[in-house]
Amino acid sequence: MALELARRGVQVTVLESGPRHDPRQRGEYVRRYLRGENPWRTPLAELDRHTVSGTTPYPLEGGRARGVGGSTLHWEGYALRLHADDFRLRSLHGIADDWPISYQDLEPYYARAEQALGVAGAADDPWASPRSMRLPLPAFPFSYSDRLFGRACRSLGIAIHSLPQARNSVAYSGRPQCRACSTCHVCPTGAKASIDLTQVPEAEATGNARILTDATVLRLEVDHSGAVSAAVYARPDRVERRVTARVFVVAAGAVETARLLLLSVSRDFPDGLANRSGLVGRFFMSHPSIDVTGRAREKVHPYRIGFSTAMSQQFAVDRNRATRGAFFLEFLNSAGPKPDRIAATSGLWGDALRQRVREEFGRWLGIRIYCEQLPDPANSVSLDARVRDYFGNPVPHLHYNVGSYEQRALDEAKTVAGSILTTLGLSEIRSGNLTFAAHQIGTHRMGTDPHASVVDPDLRAHDVPNLYLVGSGCFVTASSSPPTLTIAALAIRAAEHLASQLRHSAVRPSDSCSDAATQLG
Ligand SMILES: Cc1cc2nc3c(=O)[nH]c(=O)nc-3n(C[C@H](O)[C@H](O)[C@H](O)COP(=O)(O)OP(=O)(O)OC[C@H]3O[C@@H](n4cnc5c(N)ncnc54)[C@H](O)[C@@H]3O)c2cc1C
Ligand code: SF4
Repeated sequence: MALELARRGVQVTVLESGPRHDPRQRGEYVRRYLRGENPWRTPLAELDRHTVSGTTPYPLEGGRARGVGGSTLHWEGYALRLHADDFRLRSLHGIADDWPISYQDLEPYYARAEQALGVAGAADDPWASPRSMRLPLPAFPFSYSDRLFGRACRSLGIAIHSLPQARNSVAYSGRPQCRACSTCHVCPTGAKASIDLTQVPEAEATGNARILTDATVLRLEVDHSGAVSAAVYARPDRVERRVTARVFVVAAGAVETARLLLLSVSRDFPDGLANRSGLVGRFFMSHPSIDVTGRAREKVHPYRIGFSTAMSQQFAVDRNRATRGAFFLEFLNSAGPKPDRIAATSGLWGDALRQRVREEFGRWLGIRIYCEQLPDPANSVSLDARVRDYFGNPVPHLHYNVGSYEQRALDEAKTVAGSILTTLGLSEIRSGNLTFAAHQIGTHRMGTDPHASVVDPDLRAHDVPNLYLVGSGCFVTASSSPPTLTIAALAIRAAEHLASQLRHSAVRPSDSCSDAATQLG
């Protein structure tokens, strides 16, 4: 959003709650990651406090990152488009709601997002929706185990294809080719796209974007006309400061964007900013996920590539989704116990231990399932005033359940994955525990009806003319695909709209963000 506005001459001030991570520190970060630490952990841990409830509480720890680059510092990099059907669940299957925009509306912006992030992949997905441009980078080659999966899938009539990802299969945009070093949650080379490397430097180079780090927005203030007039923020010294601007964009992730709105109460908005519908924080979604694994007689060479290279979208589209969700299958390149775990559980020592590790390691194959979740107003982000964050504000409370719609899809997916592993002749086939992707979706949904949604199709808040809410919080439904490429496409589209609004208003783009920061405290 900042880059797209800045390159159109709009002055942008970004208030980022976390620090700026120096890319030269990545070697040290990898060492910490390999020791089991999360180097992206928020320095002020109390900022990430939250509470949970529900039958399947959603685990937020490690599910987002604060810092310049946001959660893309930590993400895996899988960069899928949503399918055209994902935008039309109500029309096609009579459930949930349609998006107010179609796949065709978003398609040109998907193409631009793929160029911007550098997505590698091939046109080999038989279920893909039409595209206007090829992906900018060639697909990563299939791994040894992908080829095994391919044979089994073919005999079962299941299509397997490359997994699109924002990772350099060849050098791209000044960043090097991926070295398959397998620490992608902390990429030491910059081959994996992360916003601090791919968009921020370009935005700052325009001279129109400045980034204030360690600056947490505490609330947004409105003026007598009901427009946002200032963002009140604080640094670790807890002193309140303000930034005034013509237009405000909140892009703090689905949980924190909802919380910031709920914290921003005023006479005009007693239930939270932009919340006349009462829907801010509602319809929280993620992707329930399960791994199905099995043991092979022969070595299958996992862990040679740290990321997955093949998937199947066959069960994500082109099926009746009225009663059970879509799901996709990710064919894992890293399954089963690693040598340290085999050693630690062996009870052996010396040569016997060495022999056991050599024999046991590398015999497991796995398939990860990601399942679509239906929007449910009861799944929500609200404020929990019993617990306070570093600045004394109520923390977010996540209430979350997985319903029968998702459970039916997971059961079907486990059967499909199990049949692939059985066809491969594996033994000890088992399903892991239910987990959840680090994808937070819903909470400020998009729509044309101000009573039934929070933002309009351009991501402008229905209730507040100079407020835009950008991110996966605006998704109407979750699809089974990961959200980030769609977030990027929607951000580019919203920025284009906003820049044109500014061009046609009395205000020159360069005036659109004032530099007034007043220390209050
Ligand atoms: C481990 C992991 C793996 C993932 N893998 C994938 C994947 O393979 N594919 C995929 O599509 N997605 C994946 N994701 C999700 C992906 O990272 C997010 O969808 C994406 O980064 C969201 O982008 P965003 O800019 O909307 O929010 P974020 O990236 O979360 O950025 C929000 C920013 O807002 C800042 N902020 C929050 N509150 C405030 C405040 N009050 N004041 C100032 N700043 C604030 C935060 O510090 C943060 O930098 C993964 C996430 C994780 C954690
Ligand atoms: S495997 Fe590639 S993307 Fe992953 S950490 Fe290594 S260089 Fe980066």
